[in-house]
Amino acid sequence: MIIRKVEAKIINTPIHEKFKTSYGEFPNYQSHIFVRITDEDGYTGIGEASQLPFFTGETTTMMKSAIENVLGPKIIGKNIFSLEEIHNEMNMALDPATSAKSAIDMALWDIKGKRLSVPVYQLVGGKEKNISLAYVLGEGIPEEMSELAVQKVEEGFKTLKVKVGLNPDKDIESIKLIRKAIGENINIRIDANQGYTVKTAIQTIERMSEYSIEYVEQPVPGWNVDGLAEVRRQTKVPIMADESVHSIHNALQLIKQGAVDIFGIKLIKCAGITHAMKIINLAEAAGIDFVLISPWDTMLGTHAGGHLSMLSSGRYAHELVGPFYISGDPFKSSLNANGYQPAQQPGFGLPDCFDQIQEE
Ligand code: MG
Repeated sequence: MIIRKVEAKIINTPIHEKFKTSYGEFPNYQSHIFVRITDEDGYTGIGEASQLPFFTGETTTMMKSAIENVLGPKIIGKNIFSLEEIHNEMNMALDPATSAKSAIDMALWDIKGKRLSVPVYQLVGGKEKNISLAYVLGEGIPEEMSELAVQKVEEGFKTLKVKVGLNPDKDIESIKLIRKAIGENINIRIDANQGYTVKTAIQTIERMSEYSIEYVEQPVPGWNVDGLAEVRRQTKVPIMADESVHSIHNALQLIKQGAVDIFGIKLIKCAGITHAMKIINLAEAAGIDFVLISPWDTMLGTHAGGHLSMLSSGRYAHELVGPFYISGDPFKSSLNANGYQPAQQPGFGLPDCFDQIQEE
C-alpha cells in the first residue's frame, strides 16, 4: 500500500460549443492533466484536473511541473490510506496548487477503492441514487440562448444554469425569453461569475425573480463576503458561493457571516475529495446544501464528482457536464441528460487507460 510511482500526462480536448462568461470567451479546447499513482503491489489509481487558471492560478503545464517535481516526490513512500499526512506533506511543499493536488487526491481515492474492491461512493459513505444534471448555457444573444435552452430541455435536462453578469438589462431579457420558451417546469439558476456590484445584484435579482430563479451563483466578487451576505439579506432567491469558497476556512467564514445558502464545490478549488468532504460536513452542520461543479472534466473527473454527489440531498441538480461539451474523451463518455448514477466497479469504475493516452 506504499506509493511507488506518480505519473502525469496532459491532453487537450476540443470544446464544440462557443462559451462565454463574465471572464470572457472560453478557448475552443479544454486542457486536462491525468495522474496515475502506482503502489508497491502494482495497484493503480487515476485522477484528473482540468484547468481553470482564473479560478486556481494553475495551467496544466504548471500542474505537471508541480506534480513531477514537487508533489509526486513528496508522497512517494507514503501509505495510500494516509490522506491527512499526504495532504499535510503536499501543503508544506507547495501552496495552494489545489488543482494539481486534486488530481493526486482523486487518484488516491481510486486506488483505495480498487484495493478494497468497493466503489468510491461507498468509501465516502454515500447512498446510491440518480442525480439530476444541469446544462450550463454560456452568455450570449438572448434569442440564441433561448433557442439553445429549448434544445437542451428537449434533450432531457430539467435544470439549466445560465451565465450572466456582463449586462444586467440584457441578463434580465435573456432569462425572460428563456423562461417563456421552456415553460414553468424547468429549473433556471443563474451564475454571474462575480460580475455584479452589490447594488446591481440586489436590483437585478429582484427583477429576475419574477421568472422563478432556483438560485443565484456568485453575484458579487469572491472576496466580498460582506457584500454576498448583504445580497442574501436583501433578496429572496437563495445564494450560492463559488469563487468565494475554495477552502474549509472560506466555507466557515461564509457560514459565520450568513452569506450563503449553497456551496458550489469544484474539486480543483479544494484540492480534491478529501477536503471537499470537510466542506460538505460544514455545510451539513450549517443547514447548507452543496452542488458539485465540474470544470469540464472528461468522464474521469465527472465520476469523481459524481461519486461524491452521492452524499448530497439530491435536491439540486449537479453540474457534472464536461462530457457534454468536449470531444475525444479518453475515458469514453457515458453520460446522458437524464442523470448520473455511479458504476459499481471498484474505485471510480473506469479502466486504467493511462498508457493509451497520447500526450500533447
Ligand atoms: Mg460558477
